[in-house]
Amino acid sequence: MGNLLIFSAPSGSGKTTIVRELMARFPQIEFSVSATSRAPRGSEVDGRDYRFVTPEEFRRLADEGAFVEWEEVYPGTCYGTLRGEVEAIRERGGVCAFDVDVVGGVRLKGIFGDDALSFFVMAPSSGELRRRLEGRGTDSPENIERRLAKAAAETERAGEFDHIIVNDDLARAVDEASRIVAPFIAGRVMLYFGSFNPVHRGHVAVAEWAVDRGLADVVVMVVSPQNPSKEADGLAPELERFEAAQLAAAASRHPWAIQASAVEMTLPRPSYTIDTLRHLSALMPGKRFSILLGGDNAAGLARWREADRILGHYPVYVYPRPGDDRAKYPAGVEVLEDAPLLDISSTRIRALLDSGREHYRAGRFGDAANDFARVRELSPWSTEAAGYLSMIDDILSYRNTDLINP
Ligand code: ADP
Ligand code: 5GP
Repeated sequence: MGNLLIFSAPSGSGKTTIVRELMARFPQIEFSVSATSRAPRGSEVDGRDYRFVTPEEFRRLADEGAFVEWEEVYPGTCYGTLRGEVEAIRERGGVCAFDVDVVGGVRLKGIFGDDALSFFVMAPSSGELRRRLEGRGTDSPENIERRLAKAAAETERAGEFDHIIVNDDLARAVDEASRIVAPFIAGRVMLYFGSFNPVHRGHVAVAEWAVDRGLADVVVMVVSPQNPSKEADGLAPELERFEAAQLAAAASRHPWAIQASAVEMTLPRPSYTIDTLRHLSALMPGKRFSILLGGDNAAGLARWREADRILGHYPVYVYPRPGDDRAKYPAGVEVLEDAPLLDISSTRIRALLDSGREHYRAGRFGDAANDFARVRELSPWSTEAAGYLSMIDDILSYRNTDLINP
């Protein structure tokens, strides 16, 4: 599990604001309080915003090796990341957030490597950056000019960061950062395997419930391009299924704790779950992975490649599906008895989409005609849809009695 987050930005871009918002969302994130040789401004509090020290004290701390890194960020003003601060946060099991200048951010990433995720925050334009610095009301006009002069050179280094966040709209920027932060800091990751063909609110309800129940820090819908036991030609295009799953996750009650992953699209096909588990475990050795499956899939698990290894190494959670034969669940899975049981399935949705049958049976011929026309667009060779369309035409012309069609 990664436990260091680095935020750098030209001054005034909003990185401090974003870090504070993220700390409100993720209580495990703690702010690494730096030491600085400048005086407090505005409402700043010693020990919360910075450790305010004299230039002499700063030099002494540097000589003692108290800093992971330090920088003369502005002429005559030094800032430094305190080693003791970082160690204390990590020992408590917290996630450490650094708010440092661009040079310091690149340096910290170099020191901590994969344990750290680095973000470059930028305002949408230089004009907006000036407005924010002026609006903040904490810097003199000369100071603002100094900060703006530095911003152009700093922005050239944005590519050295793991992620660039454009802070246009604050809520949107914080959401974007949350979606990146949540899986990175998650210790327990539940992998929800499926074709999601298509994703539906039953999937979302189960994922939400798993998060609510605290079964994992994040639930990842792993969209399989090709399930070994299913025919590939019944599947919608994989990117469409993935994008639909992303949209469904984003619209869920836990938009950053539930997300879709395309990892299996990067691996050999068909997708064997054990291969995906090995791949992810090697890539992220600090995470504890578990598996979430619908009862219909669990019934076949015993026949999966290296089923014993899956069951022996990873907790497998199964949520019952209507009509399951529970005797077929393999031994060792944990059955989630009180998971929401929605009477909905991808198979049924596909059947409805394919035929428009329900509309037709209910006498809603206009809706049915629209469905069949849509099927014809997607599959011009569908003779079944063509047949239904012409039949509905006949019915409508017969029912439509008016002056022209008496
Ligand atoms: P930094 O830490 O990067 O120097 P701050 O977080 O102090 O920047 O933000 C600079 C100013 O811009 C603050 O007054 C803050 O309230 C404001 N601000 C931050 N994000 C936005 C945004 N998305 N839209 C408008 N103003 C913002
Ligand atoms: P300010 O004076 O606006 O609080 O901060 C000036 C700059 O110094 C900001 O870009 C801030 O992120 C950066 N800074 C704060 N603490 C540190 C630190 O410990 N190391 C480095 N390199 N930069 C820091």
